[in-house]
Amino acid sequence: MTPILILGHGQLGLMLAAEAAKFGIEVDRLDLSSTERLVGTSCRRDKFDEQIIFSHYGKITAELEHLPDTDLIHRIKQSPNWINKEAFIQLIDRSDQKSLLDKLSLPTAPWCSVDTATTLESFNVHHPELVVKTTRGGYDGRGQWRINKNTLKIIPVDQFGKLIAESKIGFIRELSIIGARNERGQCSFLPLAENTHKDGILRYSAVREEINSQLQIEGETLLSSLMTYLNYTGVMAVECFQTDDGLMINEVAPRVHNSGHWSQLGTVHNQFALHIRALLNLPLPKSIEFQPTLMLNLIGCDFNPDWLSVNHIQIHWYGKSLRDGRKMGHININASSNEVLHDVVQDLGPMLNNKHKQLLKDAVDEF
Ligand code: ADP
Ligand code: MG
Repeated sequence: MTPILILGHGQLGLMLAAEAAKFGIEVDRLDLSSTERLVGTSCRRDKFDEQIIFSHYGKITAELEHLPDTDLIHRIKQSPNWINKEAFIQLIDRSDQKSLLDKLSLPTAPWCSVDTATTLESFNVHHPELVVKTTRGGYDGRGQWRINKNTLKIIPVDQFGKLIAESKIGFIRELSIIGARNERGQCSFLPLAENTHKDGILRYSAVREEINSQLQIEGETLLSSLMTYLNYTGVMAVECFQTDDGLMINEVAPRVHNSGHWSQLGTVHNQFALHIRALLNLPLPKSIEFQPTLMLNLIGCDFNPDWLSVNHIQIHWYGKSLRDGRKMGHININASSNEVLHDVVQDLGPMLNNKHKQLLKDAVDEF
């Protein structure tokens, strides 16, 4: 089957390559900082003739949306094998993305572009609590400021022109909908995941047995209209706020998503398999059966081999060097019964640092 090149060499690309290997599909990854290639799931890098990018790989996809502004990336974006050109034009900049949502009449938090202090002040008159975000490059809550009329001044002046301000939404909970679409326009959707963030970083996601079917349909409808409009192929993720009026879109990612990692354990149709299948225009599942599952992110901590002895869980470790606040791995937890969850807390809890122990306890208590 057609070889695939992924721009980026982080965990998302790694997990895509691992999934593709199950079908004997060649997936290589490109380290965009060095333009070295990582072949398959290997950590070894090779220097290679750049022409291979255009002659060997039938599909080129990305694991991250913020691609560097280099000649190579420009050439890739001109290639017929670069998929989702339109999505990468219209979704990457937050203000373009918000404009698209408005254009398609999809609900999203009221917002404005922030070019001057005056635009910020005027918007603030009707929206007392604001979340200000950089239009490009933000992730895991970086490049964001929570402000009100007393703290407008904390926004660095040199950022004006590269920011949007959003009204702060008093959401009930955060949910994400993840789906895949192939070239034929067939779509498949995963069940809604409920996501808990702390300090702007996703800490854990939960997929329960009972999914609110009204919200599920709403989520699928929002995501379908985006994928259809952009003539999209592959997996797309939409982060939503649940409000009293239903779902409101927070942000859209044209890629596999952290809140879909539970699907590696909770269903046979995980998001990485769906992305590969959709890219290669293979059939997608008609419906996706799943089991209740919890996913706990492992952030800024070391690997502990003892985790591997715990029942009912699946460990994923990304092999990255340790940094504070960095996503190092995740644990998928079978949440099919209270007994199982209780056992996991008993066995795994003592093997985690205090922060993660507390997060596990919170995730299980809320489940
Ligand atoms: P990132 O790209 O860092 O994920 P997000 O826009 O998703 O940026 O913001 C990170 C988190 O901040 C969200 O998951 C949500 O918890 C909170 N947040 C973002 N925008 C708003 C908003 N308008 N109102 C309330 N909370 C928000
Ligand atoms: Mg987000």
